[in-house]
Amino acid sequence: MSVLTPQITSCLCGSVKITANKINPKFSVCHCQTCRTWGGAPFFAVQCGTEVTIEGHEKVKVYESSPWASRGFCSDCGTHLFCQFKASGEYNMPVGLFPNVKNLEMNMQYFSDKQPEYYNFDKKTKEMSEAEILAYFSSEVE
Ligand SMILES: [Zn+2]
Ligand SMILES: [Zn+2]
Repeated sequence: MSVLTPQITSCLCGSVKITANKINPKFSVCHCQTCRTWGGAPFFAVQCGTEVTIEGHEKVKVYESSPWASRGFCSDCGTHLFCQFKASGEYNMPVGLFPNVKNLEMNMQYFSDKQPEYYNFDKKTKEMSEAEILAYFSSEVE
């Protein structure tokens, strides 16, 4: 089941604008080393199918990360935009690009055997809120 409301998003700098017409709110997490090298952490991705419009193509740099898929990012700000499968043309995009999608649910973990032991979201850690972080950096933002 997909969300049928078109979702419009952009990279951090705004050079690239993306419209995704169909998003599956059941997103996946990929623990493979390629995803963790690309983003520094597991890749949280929503399936967006092929009904995707990208404005600002000239700013999108595409890297062929495997024989079956390529990855795109903004060449100005570095925001990761998509992983596209060559055979189907389907896009997987970072879930973080779509904050307004309702009912997001983590539904699948790929390469689960490759998840290193050093991270686990079940583990209780220290935490900082936005207010605490802004207070911490307050002397630097004035
Ligand atoms: Zn950008
Ligand atoms: Zn992966």
